[in-house]
Amino acid sequence: TQYVYTFGGTAVSDDPRAKDKTITGGKGANLAEMASIGLPVPPGFTITTEMCVKYLAEGANFDDSLRAEVATALNDIERTVGKKFGDPADPLLVSVRSGARVSMPGMMDTVLNLGLNDDTVVGLAAVSGDERFAWDSYRRFVQMYSDVVLGLDHGLFEEALEIAKEDKGYYNDIELTADDWKALVAEFKEVAERELGRPFPQDPAEQLWGAIAAVFGSWDSERAKVYRRLNDIPGSWGTAVNVQAMVFGNMGDTSATGVAFTRDPATGERVYYGEYLINAQGEDVVAGIRTPQYLTKAAREVAGATAPSMEEAMPDAYGQLAKVFDLLEKHYRDMQDIEFTVQQGTLWMLQTRSGKRTAKAALKMAVEMVAEGLIDEATAIRRIDPMALDQLLHPTLDPTAERHVLTVGLPASPGAASGKAVFDADTAEVWVERGEDVILVRVETSPEDIHGMHAAKGILTARGGMTSHAAVVARGMGRPCVSGASALSIDRKAKIARIGSTEIREGDVLTLDGSTGEVMLGSVPTIEPELVGDFATLMVWADGQRRMKVRTNAETPADCKIARQFGAEGIGLCRTEHMFFDASRISSVRQMILAEDKQGREMALAKLLPEQRSDFKAIFTEMAGLPVTIRLLDPPLHEFLPHGDTEFEELAEITGYGVDHLKRRADELHEFNPMLGHRGCRLGITFPEIYEMQAQAIFEAAIEVAVESGDAPVPEIMIPLVATKRELEILKALVDKIAGEVFAAKGSTIEYLVGTMIELPRAALMAGEIAEEAAFFSFGTNDLTQTTLGVSRDDAARFLNPYVEKGIYPRDPFVSLDIEGVGQLVELGADRGRATRPDIKLGICGEHGGDPASIAFCEKVGLDYVSASPYRVPIARLAAAQAAL
Ligand code: ADP
Ligand code: MG
Ligand code: MG
Repeated sequence: TQYVYTFGGTAVSDDPRAKDKTITGGKGANLAEMASIGLPVPPGFTITTEMCVKYLAEGANFDDSLRAEVATALNDIERTVGKKFGDPADPLLVSVRSGARVSMPGMMDTVLNLGLNDDTVVGLAAVSGDERFAWDSYRRFVQMYSDVVLGLDHGLFEEALEIAKEDKGYYNDIELTADDWKALVAEFKEVAERELGRPFPQDPAEQLWGAIAAVFGSWDSERAKVYRRLNDIPGSWGTAVNVQAMVFGNMGDTSATGVAFTRDPATGERVYYGEYLINAQGEDVVAGIRTPQYLTKAAREVAGATAPSMEEAMPDAYGQLAKVFDLLEKHYRDMQDIEFTVQQGTLWMLQTRSGKRTAKAALKMAVEMVAEGLIDEATAIRRIDPMALDQLLHPTLDPTAERHVLTVGLPASPGAASGKAVFDADTAEVWVERGEDVILVRVETSPEDIHGMHAAKGILTARGGMTSHAAVVARGMGRPCVSGASALSIDRKAKIARIGSTEIREGDVLTLDGSTGEVMLGSVPTIEPELVGDFATLMVWADGQRRMKVRTNAETPADCKIARQFGAEGIGLCRTEHMFFDASRISSVRQMILAEDKQGREMALAKLLPEQRSDFKAIFTEMAGLPVTIRLLDPPLHEFLPHGDTEFEELAEITGYGVDHLKRRADELHEFNPMLGHRGCRLGITFPEIYEMQAQAIFEAAIEVAVESGDAPVPEIMIPLVATKRELEILKALVDKIAGEVFAAKGSTIEYLVGTMIELPRAALMAGEIAEEAAFFSFGTNDLTQTTLGVSRDDAARFLNPYVEKGIYPRDPFVSLDIEGVGQLVELGADRGRATRPDIKLGICGEHGGDPASIAFCEKVGLDYVSASPYRVPIARLAAAQAAL
């Protein structure tokens, strides 16, 4: 196997593996791609991810064949650039960069200027004619190599630099002279030697192999592992290493370094967007050391900034960049996130990848790129991550609400968030675990903060631009973020932030508006989201592609209304027990449960009938003309019982029974395992009056709505927890009998169906027989998961996380359907049901109905619809379309 691929040089192979992200990683593959379409890319080579996996498996040794491949590739760079690695007269310098299949914080930071030592720095100074540049490059190298490869505390070097600046009365790095840097290099090397117990490595080859080993090793770092776990990235992928000839953005005022997006990643607008710094190198732009400048004149003017934009300061290089932007978008047909350097007026491309974007931007770009002819509708649909829509489906700050604005930073990642201020990532995680909402407040974030950013509702930083670590990561995670709130001064140790005279202490509530950059004290009221504009357009396209219907799980008119606005095509699950818990009704419910006999029960049910009827009327009115699946009473009766003496006393007063009597009845109803006890259709079998009352309420309500609106609902009456055909047979007869009575009394009929939930393994197995009685099946995958795995959903929290971490289940099976196991029962149930009754209606109503992976499975087994909670309906519509494509 070939383990090293070159790019941008003279001897580039046409092996497709060189441009395959799985082999050369995202960064390497895109460098090869850019070079091959003629963009200016400094030459280099990539050591493959396969080598990383092999290296880690075989005890961190480099074999001779790899050394030979690297030597050949290095030769190719030398030939292309016309310099030799380690040559004291005119040294080739390289960067060593990590790059996994997907961009991954936690991997080793890039080392720049590798190949410098006490001899080559003199050559570099001579050849460039710029001593200051040479020594600035050397000190950067010693600092970076010590930090990321040798693992020394970077604070030691920063401190030395700070002291040097203070001694000289400098404010900015730019002010240091060649001699200052020279002195600092000596000091840096001393620090390194003191810490290491041996001199800082001077041999370029040793430097190179040290850096390569560090990149591979970083794949197994704790940070990388945390990130992989949070993002479902397999440990078996490995990372590639990219070694690339240096170009220099720190060669004076005609040189610069920058990062850019081909469109605005926050809004999706078609404007070049980015930041750059003159006479700077590498990550100076994102590190918050100097304030970056805008790329375009327009952006600078909007921000009211004075430092010239790149468009103004280096129009020629900017023109080269603009051309590259257009070429890249045409080539990749997507918004690109770019890193570039200008060396003495010439543009060099150092990275491109599909840019992270907010959900709003993703929609706008997808819709506009279809209009521009860059992509087709199907691609637009595929390109939106359904779960990312979640960002848009949550309330935003009410624009009319009063805001106590403390300060305004950069609108780095949109959305609104309120929570308690915390000042470090660990605290964020701990507080969130105990159920608090937090806002993570930092001077600037770094990859070590990822877990805290993930836990937080929002992120606030005092430093850093729109492309800072905080901004980029927050956008990727969908967390609202305000960055660069420079009025904020943070005392991390004391856990206090100050803005003017206002103090924010740990635990104080803050609200962020990531769309305006506003930071507010206290929490601010929010408003409901709406489905309009690009979002609505994309949904219409998605609807054109999907086969499955999307319904909602709802039991209140308010939820029905929201779900319909989001495009629900009916109700897949209306749970009637919620109606029983209502404060005004609970005493009638308790009376019914505690009644000694049928007559007592009927008296109580008579009081509930009109209440249920008006509930159903309200729901049918919202869902006029659409199917509404109503599940008859499901939970064990004891859940409705009174708790505590006062409740018993109140009930005694209403019923006339003594408290002791009521308590005895309540004890009789106690169950050891209520989940597998007297619930579901077992209630209907033993207390038929309950289901009779519910059926009567449903039919009366449906007829009344049909008469009043002329648009008849189609009730689908669903019997829960059926295990046998006989259960359904008895209860279907009961429902049909009530239907007949109501239709006769009202002199009018409506269409209705009777069906069942498939939520017990036996029901799935016996689906063929059960289908003789059922007009529809709804797979109740919450209970089906509990009963198939033998895991109680309410008790799973204690062990499910470790289970997922150990890979026993790939994901929480209550969130994403266990396709391997439970999925078999769904598929088998669907097949057997259809074999008996070809036109049987099949749907899913568990939480899984809103989970894209589960929805894809439902499409595969041919269900007719999925049902999701109201706010998930658009997610389900898009996921169903993607599944059908
Ligand atoms: P990351 O994955 O963290 O973005 P990169 O490998 O892209 O790290 O390196 C960070 C920055 O270092 C780049 O954006 C670029 O500015 C600089 N850099 C990397 N390689 C080179 C190089 N060969 N010449 C000049 N600058 C480089
Ligand atoms: Mg980086
Ligand atoms: Mg980069």
